[in-house]
Amino acid sequence: MKNKPPATPIPKEDVLIRELLSGQRFLMRSFQPEMESAFWRTLAERSTSMINGFIFPGAIVYLILGVLNLPIVYYFSWSYFRTQDLYNLAYMYAIGILCLGTLPALLKRSFFHQYFYAIMGTISFFGVLSTSYFSLQFKTPWVSQAATYDVVLVYILVYFIIGMKPRFIFAVGLSAGLLALAIAYFRTANFDFIWYSNEELVRYVYYVGLINLVGLVVSTVNIAKERVSFLQSRLLELDKLQAEDMSDKLTRLSREDPVTGLANRRYFNERMDEEWERAQRSGEPLSVLFIDIDHFKTYNDTYGHLQGDEALHQVAQTLKLFLHRSTDLAARYGGEEFLVLLPNTPVAGAKTVADKVLAAVDALNIEHKKSKTAKFVTVSIGVSTCSFVDSEVTIAELINQADEAVYKAKADGRHRVREYHRM
Ligand code: GH3
Ligand code: MG
Ligand code: MG
Repeated sequence: MKNKPPATPIPKEDVLIRELLSGQRFLMRSFQPEMESAFWRTLAERSTSMINGFIFPGAIVYLILGVLNLPIVYYFSWSYFRTQDLYNLAYMYAIGILCLGTLPALLKRSFFHQYFYAIMGTISFFGVLSTSYFSLQFKTPWVSQAATYDVVLVYILVYFIIGMKPRFIFAVGLSAGLLALAIAYFRTANFDFIWYSNEELVRYVYYVGLINLVGLVVSTVNIAKERVSFLQSRLLELDKLQAEDMSDKLTRLSREDPVTGLANRRYFNERMDEEWERAQRSGEPLSVLFIDIDHFKTYNDTYGHLQGDEALHQVAQTLKLFLHRSTDLAARYGGEEFLVLLPNTPVAGAKTVADKVLAAVDALNIEHKKSKTAKFVTVSIGVSTCSFVDSEVTIAELINQADEAVYKAKADGRHRVREYHRM
């Protein structure tokens, strides 16, 4: 069953729900508007799926009842009224079939779900009105009495299957019942309405009044209980959402370096393992950049640790900016060292990315007056690539190679890119 929560979470919804639920077995009050409409939507969806499930067996039972009633009415109606009573029975069942028959077609329409209560209210009104009207038309006394019970059955269906607002069904049920009486009276007034006594009228008014009152009370209590279980399941749902949210946050935190917002070493290793296997399977080359900030100890000594962190953050953002492919990953590997994973990238491509990163960090133009390399913060980058064709390196070796390449870049004067060459 689609039991969707309201599209936008209501602020402090769980607090509100707990407050409403505290110590209550029934809830007579309506909720605040958004929750109220979610509540009725849920009930409508449930009724819809119930109608969906019962429409076919329901129609069969209904037809069987109709077929069974035919000979009974035939044999037990007074012969003088037989034809009229049989016609009447046929009308009554035809109307019922019409009401039941429109449902499967309606259920498929999107507007049905939107106007569930209006449509079901209309069908109920029409169904009650017509069954009540025809029940008043039977002439044989006991057939007429049995028809009143049929009317009561229709009311029970309307009150307890559809799950409409109690006062709404009460209004629909009572007005349809009274209107049927009025029509029956005016249509037959010229003849002898309630031909044998006032008994029929009294019985009709009694049953219709009683079933509507009972229906109102019972469905009111029922809806009050439904409110409680709606809140309980909504609360469970909210708790679940909260737990999921929490676990998402935890996952993110466990993967993230807090200073730079980049992936941390642990997540880098995880992803590296995956990409490594993928590359081995596909035979695609895989490259790694090892990026180390030049003279960063001096930077910290000159500007302080906090500003050092800020510089790290800026460099990290630049790295992120330069990785366009979703499989690329930049991570903080240690103090002022970053690793970039470039799946499906040959050495030439990796060198191009490295050159761009180098230039981009220059362009940040973070002042570093004590640097022996430039007047701004610079990086040295080592590149290593694994082609999987003829090499038998491991992940650790590939990263070490990139680290060695950085050493070379440092030795050659820093602020440059060097690639690893096998001896
Ligand atoms: P080189 O050019 O040879 O790379 O010199 P370097 O000073 O950058 O290298 P070294 O490895 O000697 O020093 C790294 C410095 O990075 C040490 C420390 O002050 C700084 N550092 C490491 N982690 C952090 C951090 O989280 N925040 C800040 N602000 N500084 C850090
Ligand atoms: Mg270093
Ligand atoms: Mg350094």
